[in-house]
Amino acid sequence: MKNFNPVNKIQDLQYFGEFGGVNPSISDSSTYTFLSAKTMFDTFEGNAEGCYLYSRHSSPSNLYLDQALAAMEGTEAANVSASGMGAITPTLLQLCSQGEHIVASRTIYGGTYAFLKNLAPRFGVQTSFVDITKLEAVEAAIRPETRVLYCETVSNPLLEIANISGLAEIAKRYNLKLVVDNTFSPLSISPIALGADIVIHSLTKYINGSSDTVAGVTCASRAFINSLKDVNSGCSMLLGPTMDSLRSASVMKNLRTLHIRIKQHSRNALYLAERFERDGIKTVYPGLQSHSSHEVYKSMMDSEFGYGGMMTIDVGSLEKANALMELMQTRKLGYLAVSLGFYKTLFSAPGTSTSSEIPMEEQKAMGLTDGLIRMSIGLDEDIERTYNMMKTCMVELSIL
Ligand code: PLP
Repeated sequence: MKNFNPVNKIQDLQYFGEFGGVNPSISDSSTYTFLSAKTMFDTFEGNAEGCYLYSRHSSPSNLYLDQALAAMEGTEAANVSASGMGAITPTLLQLCSQGEHIVASRTIYGGTYAFLKNLAPRFGVQTSFVDITKLEAVEAAIRPETRVLYCETVSNPLLEIANISGLAEIAKRYNLKLVVDNTFSPLSISPIALGADIVIHSLTKYINGSSDTVAGVTCASRAFINSLKDVNSGCSMLLGPTMDSLRSASVMKNLRTLHIRIKQHSRNALYLAERFERDGIKTVYPGLQSHSSHEVYKSMMDSEFGYGGMMTIDVGSLEKANALMELMQTRKLGYLAVSLGFYKTLFSAPGTSTSSEIPMEEQKAMGLTDGLIRMSIGLDEDIERTYNMMKTCMVELSIL
């Protein structure tokens, strides 16, 4: 997708701080004054351009980050939130009313799965979970009351790849909204350019990249973002997952180095995935020829940013997985921790952590095995050294 360049969009942003600073000033206020009562009324009605009322609705700092992320994903507008889930749940509830239906990938982040399976039905919204790589299965699950197709570009934790153009074509045909969680593949893949309607990120991961905050964003049309923020019926406005201004300012600063970080994460992950596969370890990484959706990813990606920093290896049993993760942590190769996008490698066993919301038999059905380790590969400068040290750990534990 060479004709859409998200990195130039970020580079071209230029904000001047209140006192001429090179960073925009942080708006450290929850409420805003008006010189006239009439302007206050107009602002409430949404008719006073450039005026702020109350920071749950919008604040200057959040609007700066909104603009930057909308530019990055190529949408008219965006709305940042206090977490990735704080973007996902209001977006889906805004799109679906009681009696309506969602078709979702069965391999998605455990929290999103739990929301769709357990909580959304309490609002009368049902979900069918399908193998998102099979377009015919997606189409077969659509009902007259379906409103949304939901997937992750690269799924958590199995790294299945959604064919965004194929899904967009189905969504258009059935008049559905295609909502894509692009958390694992910022810059590498631009879902809007491929036909998606709405893109969501957990900013907690790569975009912020320093594992010091949780945050999220919904990128969409101006009309949809306005509907999320509507004072009478907006799910973001009324459920209230508002990001704090100090945090949006810090996420914005980290966004500026995203392109450099993603290249290094991808370079390192490809190096390790190729070596581990050659050593005979069952390795899943979209950059490997052996990945069942390697060609699909390749057809959608901006090759400069590679196949991302996420990979999985299967070491055969939960005991071995736990022993390896503990040993790698002791050797300072990374942290036994959930989440992703940090400068150091993070590893966890998804079946007992981030996907534990998914029942055992469903985990088995989707190929989520006991010995699976999900790794978010870090920014290591000398990745060969890291590989040799990881290999030594595997040899010591008789995994290799
Ligand atoms: N989407 C994906 C793909 C995730 O991995 C996560 C969290 O792990 C989320 C959404 C939820 O984001 P947050 O933890 O920021 O609420």
